[in-house]
Amino acid sequence: MTHKENVPKWVRQRFAATIQYMNEKGTSWIFKKLQDSDEVYYIQYTQNRKIGYKLSKKTIYWNPNAFYKNTNGTIVFPATILAHEGRHALQHDEYGEEKYKELKETADPEYGDLIENKVITTTEQVIAKLHSDIKEEETTRTDHKGKMFVMDEYSFMDACNESYTAIPERFRENILEYLRVIWNIGE
Ligand SMILES: [Zn+2]
Repeated sequence: MTHKENVPKWVRQRFAATIQYMNEKGTSWIFKKLQDSDEVYYIQYTQNRKIGYKLSKKTIYWNPNAFYKNTNGTIVFPATILAHEGRHALQHDEYGEEKYKELKETADPEYGDLIENKVITTTEQVIAKLHSDIKEEETTRTDHKGKMFVMDEYSFMDACNESYTAIPERFRENILEYLRVIWNIGE
C-alpha cells in the first residue's frame, strides 16, 4: 500500500492520522491485510466527486475531508469511506481480477452491483458503528445514491459556507469533533 507520487503532503498526513484513528477504534484490519499482500495498492487524492476504487489502476481515490450524506439521513465519515474503499481493494486481492469484474457487472437492485452490495451490507455497517458514525440500531444506507460533500475546519468558521449550511444541525458537532481529532493526530 503506497501513495501515488503526486499526493499532497497534507493528504498523506491525514491518511496516516486516519489509519491511527482506525487502530484506536479497532477498524484498521483491512489496511493491515492490504499491507501484507504481495500486490501493491495505491492511494490517490481526489478533490472532485470521484471517490472510489479503480480496479485497473489498483488505486483508492479518497479525500480526507469528504463525507457522504445518504438518502436515509445518515452521514458516513471520511474514515469509514476509506475503510469502504480499502475493502474493495481487498476484494480485488481476495477474489482476483476476473471474479471482481464479474461481481461488478452483476446488477443489484439496491446498491447498483454485487461488489457494492457485499461491502455496504457487511463491512461498512460494522465499521460505521465502531466509528460512531451511526447508532447501533441504524443502517448507513439502503441504496447507493448518497451525495458527497467536502468539509474542513475552516468551513465551520464561515456560517454562510454552502457545505456547512447543507449539513443537518444534529451532525455539525460530530463532524467538527471528528475533524479536530484527525487534525490533532496529524499535527
Ligand atoms: Zn463502494
